[in-house]
Parts: sequence; structure tokens; C-alpha cells
Amino acid sequence: MKLVIENLTKKYKNKVALDNVSLSMENGIYALLGPNGAGKTTLIYSIIGLITYQQGSIKYYDDQNMEMESLYEILGYLPQYPSFYKNFSVYEMLLYIATLKGLKKNIIKERISEVLHEVNLWDDKNMKIKALSGGMKQRLGIAQAIINHPRILIVDEPTAGLDPKERIRFRDVIKNISLNTIVIFATHIVSDVELIATNIILLKSGKVILDEKRETVFQYI
Ligand code: ADP
Ligand code: ADP
Repeated sequence: MKLVIENLTKKYKNKVALDNVSLSMENGIYALLGPNGAGKTTLIYSIIGLITYQQGSIKYYDDQNMEMESLYEILGYLPQYPSFYKNFSVYEMLLYIATLKGLKKNIIKERISEVLHEVNLWDDKNMKIKALSGGMKQRLGIAQAIINHPRILIVDEPTAGLDPKERIRFRDVIKNISLNTIVIFATHIVSDVELIATNIILLKSGKVILDEKRETVFQYI
């Protein structure tokens, strides 16, 4: 999987939110950093296809280097504040989402079981969502986002409300997924970057001011 962004420029009226951004990503975890107003949300929304832009291009290529057209099948998104039906159990929530996303009936149960194991919620599948901890909810959010096998997973500040133990669990889950997925991970938590990022992208005033492998950055620290 490859995501290639070239010369992306996005303006809101006269305000330049992204200024000639070019980035290339392959499987791994890309920490997306930058102060408030840097353009992170705008970049994420552009990749997801929620907003249009004035200039540039965003293209997706499969493992055979063929350009992919439909975003629906390749994208998974965990927003900063995901919403759930609080009276559903973990299992019911995934069943609902899988059905909405059009997964075939004969594979749904197997896929839900697979995903629940992947995010480490199998033993909690009958718990009501209102009884889950913050970390469990974030892992359920990931389960929802990956149920249809996306190849690009975007997570927005997912560890902010988590305690250290939950954060470690969440990172393990993401690390595993990133072996064959591009994960874009917006965060303000330094240990997220230090422990799991493969690459670091720093935005400021709509410009990419750093785009490096993690080792390259951390060798000086
Ligand atoms: P984040 O918490 O990721 O930094 P923001 O708080 O900057 O995000 O933005 C949250 C939402 O508000 C986004 O959808 C963004 O497009 C919108 N937004 C941010 N700044 C403005 C603005 N000046 N005018 C209108 N909408 C804005
Ligand atoms: P971040 O997520 O890094 O905080 P944003 O992408 O939300 O940054 O915002 C980038 C810039 O664009 C900021 O200056 C913000 O105020 C502005 N902006 C974002 N959304 C809107 C919008 N809908 N209308 C006008 N300005 C916006």
C-alpha cells in the first residue's frame, strides 16, 4: 500500500491551511505532529475525502502499484471522539457496523471474532459499551475502523484520555495493524512517537517542516 500526496494546497477563503504539502507513505506508523492550527485536521480530512482542495493530488496505490479508485474500501478512521450506542454490547456494536459497511453475512461472525482478538476485546465482547473503560472504548473504535480491512488507518489523538496501562495496550494493537497498513497517528503524546512511530511528520502553518524516519530524529535526543 502506498499513499502519495503531491503539492496539496487547501485554502479556507483567504486562509491557507495546507501549503504545497507533499508526502509519501508506505506501511508503518506516521506520527502527525504540530501545534493547533498547523493543518493536521485539514490534512486528515483531505485524505479521507471529507473536504476538497484547490491544488495538488492524493493518490493511493495497491501492493502491485496500481492506483486505487474507491476510498470506501481502503480507509479506516477513528475520530478523536468516536460515538457508540451505549446500550449495545461490544459484539452488537461490531455486528451493527459490519452490517452497515456491507460485509457479507457468511463472513461477518468470523471477521468480528478476528477483529475482537486483534484489539484484545474478545473476553469482553458481551460487556455493554457504557461499562467500558476509556482504553477499551478506543480499542473498540479501532475494531470498528478496521472491520472492513482498510489499508490506511487514521487515528486522531487516540491516547489522550488513556491511563499509562491502557496506552500501552492501545499502542500494541496499532503496532500490529501497521505491519500491513499505513497508520496515520495524530498525537501530542511524546511517548506515542518515541515508542511506536516509524516516521515523524511535523506540520507548521500548513507546511511540512519535518518528514523523517523516527531513528533519524531520535538519534540526536
Ligand atoms: P484539532 O483539535 O484537531 O486541532 P481544531 O480544533 O483545530 O482541531 O478544529 C476542529 C474543527 O473545527 C475542524 O473541523 C476544523 O475544520 C474546524 N475549524 C478550525 N478552525 C476553524 C475556523 N477558523 N473556522 C471554522 N472552522 C474551523
Ligand atoms: P490543526 O488540526 O492542526 O489544529 P486545522 O487543520 O484545524 O489545524 O486548521 C488549519 C488552519 O485552517 C487554522 O488556521 C484554522 O483556523 C483554519 N481552518 C480550519 N478549518 C477552517 C474552516 N472550516 N474555515 C476557516 N478556517 C479554517
